[in-house]
Amino acid sequence: MNTIFLGPPGSGKGTMAERIAKFFNIAHVSTGDMLREEIKKETKLGALAKSYIDKGALVPDSVIIDMIKERLQKADASKGVLFDGFPRTVAQALALDEIAKIDVCVNLECDINVIVKRISTRLVCDKCGAVYSSLTHEGTKCDVCPGNLYTRPDDNEETVRERFKVYELNTAPLIDYYSAKIVNVDATMPIEEEATFIKEALKAYA
Ligand code: AMP
Repeated sequence: MNTIFLGPPGSGKGTMAERIAKFFNIAHVSTGDMLREEIKKETKLGALAKSYIDKGALVPDSVIIDMIKERLQKADASKGVLFDGFPRTVAQALALDEIAKIDVCVNLECDINVIVKRISTRLVCDKCGAVYSSLTHEGTKCDVCPGNLYTRPDDNEETVRERFKVYELNTAPLIDYYSAKIVNVDATMPIEEEATFIKEALKAYA
């Protein structure tokens, strides 16, 4: 099964994508995580990506498409792929059509006010990427690995509002693009309920 997870920043896409990819034993391909890894390794691509990410802007399509093409060469991609945060533009969706067949597209729906609240309290583990909320998590240590929690530099209110605008302008049109394959999900549901809903919806394609 190849699936896409669409949703505005802060819709819980990354957390849910990881769980669902594990459940169906498919590769979790997050372009955001891949770019953050490049930034951490201080590569040329990382430096380029950072200049866009810090502003809440999109990294150019050609850079992302090349990165995805390379990623899909890896052995684990043959089990099936969950694309998280890709495609984000119609140009990326057209490029993806040339290299993979998408079975189903999960669209996580979430209101901007919920998003701003979620993102401004979001903490991420620097080792395993686990996501927490400062409202419910005490301290700066990860619960599942020896990592430390940090606030993503693009998780401030101003950048979040910009990322939401960019989402509405560039990425929301993909809901129409994938309309024949879309499963809409209320991303404000409790996390377990939401995971069960998505698993049930995707079973037909696994
Ligand atoms: P995410 O972790 O998915 O929220 O992505 C963080 C940031 O990385 C985004 O705000 C963009 O700047 C960049 N990014 C991630 N995926 C893409 C993509 N498919 N196209 C363009 N930029 C991307």
